[in-house]
Amino acid sequence: DSFGVKSALQKLGVQTENLGTSTGNNWIDSGMEYISSFSPADGELIGKVQVTNRESYDAVVSKAQEAYKTWRNMPAPQRGEIVRQIGNALREVKPELGKLVSYEMGKSYQEGLGEVQEMIDICDFAVGLSRQLYGLTMHSERPGHRMYEQWHPLGIVGIVSAFNFPVAVWSWNSMIAWVCGDVCIWKPSEKAPLSGIACQQITARVFKENGLPEGISSLIVGDYKVGKFMTEDRRVPLISATGSTRMGKIVGQAVAARLGRSLLELGGNNAIIITENADIEIAIRGALFGAVGTAGQRCTSTRRLIIHESIYESIKERLAAAYSKLVIGNPLNEKNHVGPLIDKMAVEMYQKAIEKVKIEGGKEVVAGGVFSGDGYESGCYVKPCIIEAENHFKMVQEETFAPILYIMKYKTLDEAIAMHNGVPQGLSSAIMTLNMREAEAFLSVSGSDCGIANVNIGTSGAEIGGAFGGEKETGGGRESGSDSWKAYMRRQTNTINYSTNLPLAQGIKFDI
Ligand code: NAD
Repeated sequence: DSFGVKSALQKLGVQTENLGTSTGNNWIDSGMEYISSFSPADGELIGKVQVTNRESYDAVVSKAQEAYKTWRNMPAPQRGEIVRQIGNALREVKPELGKLVSYEMGKSYQEGLGEVQEMIDICDFAVGLSRQLYGLTMHSERPGHRMYEQWHPLGIVGIVSAFNFPVAVWSWNSMIAWVCGDVCIWKPSEKAPLSGIACQQITARVFKENGLPEGISSLIVGDYKVGKFMTEDRRVPLISATGSTRMGKIVGQAVAARLGRSLLELGGNNAIIITENADIEIAIRGALFGAVGTAGQRCTSTRRLIIHESIYESIKERLAAAYSKLVIGNPLNEKNHVGPLIDKMAVEMYQKAIEKVKIEGGKEVVAGGVFSGDGYESGCYVKPCIIEAENHFKMVQEETFAPILYIMKYKTLDEAIAMHNGVPQGLSSAIMTLNMREAEAFLSVSGSDCGIANVNIGTSGAEIGGAFGGEKETGGGRESGSDSWKAYMRRQTNTINYSTNLPLAQGIKFDI
């Protein structure tokens, strides 16, 4: 245990065998089925988690419904105070939780710490927000009337999260939902359930210390079958689901069939346009971290570079040189730049994507491959690669969740923007240029069609203060900062008559 994983697990209360269903401090025995969580870093079994069955799911929902009645009546700033304490509890275990995230998911320890920092940041944001859940006041057209709007909580928010941000995505949703007055049921990814167990213990302690009931924060564990319990359940008015577009299409339809609300954060196919006016140093660094960071397993990972033809060859050479310096290995070892993919299935998908794009005419600039031997026993380590491709290739149109970077060239900015937008997804985007006309054109109505558009910054690494999400097949949802909180509440328009008459709107006369 050279990286201190065991002591981190111990501090976080993660056992080798864990129940997976919880309403807070109460953990419910849920039958015989278990999920085993293996580390992609070394292939070792980290621990097992029991899968939630129908019966215990129903018990969780009942508790959540009960808890909602208490929680919604607590003033929002007091709910904010609880979230402030959760932020402090997270600060106390930042190194341990960062380590677990790194070990269970495979991202570098630095990125694991970054993910926990993001949780702390969203807590702070939510605390401030708890005093700013503003509605508007309007002027009534009727004399002696006042009209305004207010925001009320929805009830139970069902959170379904992806493996690649095993804890941050939950916190973006739950911290905001909690200050809004909602209660949460979280189904973490079945590929990172132990991270879920750890978070549940952290929040449960805070709720208990404050004498709050069970059911404000609940955990259920399992794959899509357990997710379906929630998506098809009318008692869960909002489903916030993060994951693949394939999943989003199924979840979106299931929730729509019962006219529930869904907040979808799905796949991206993010590109950087590098113009002839770019600061090349910044362009290379931005592209490099965007493409290989988290081994290409971020929804905002850079998948395509659209490069002006005049600088194409030099960018290609400089990138290839930078790739040759990458050190791939155990993510807990801070000397390594790139860790493993999440599992062997992901490795297979990476290999197939490379094969397929080569059949379509793609040319390897930096070849891919799978590592084996000492330090790579898990079989999950792959080589970040660069492939010259065309935007219309089938594989380029798809999101492959691995470090494969497609590069292509353009002549005019209009052509570059058309290529940029010419994919089904619309999450994150960037232009590298010092030319004001180019930058503004990219951000204009006829520029990038994505939810996030950056200038002289890569596609990945968003800040929590902004609204996060994307268009088209990325699902249209917005989470985290700005006014994303509105998705977790229902709007009520109120009109109050303090006059001695009852005038009707639109001047309608109705006298008897
Ligand atoms: P995934 O779609 O395989 O799984 C995501 C979650 O959905 C898991 O918890 C899974 O159990 C659940 N799920 C799957 N099918 C379901 C169903 N029919 N009903 C209910 N729940 C279901 O995704 P993944 O491999 O864990 O994550 C990678 C994907 O997530 C990538 O496409 C990535 O771009 C995307 N992602 C998007 C964002 C974003 O904010 N836009 C953030 C992180 C990841």
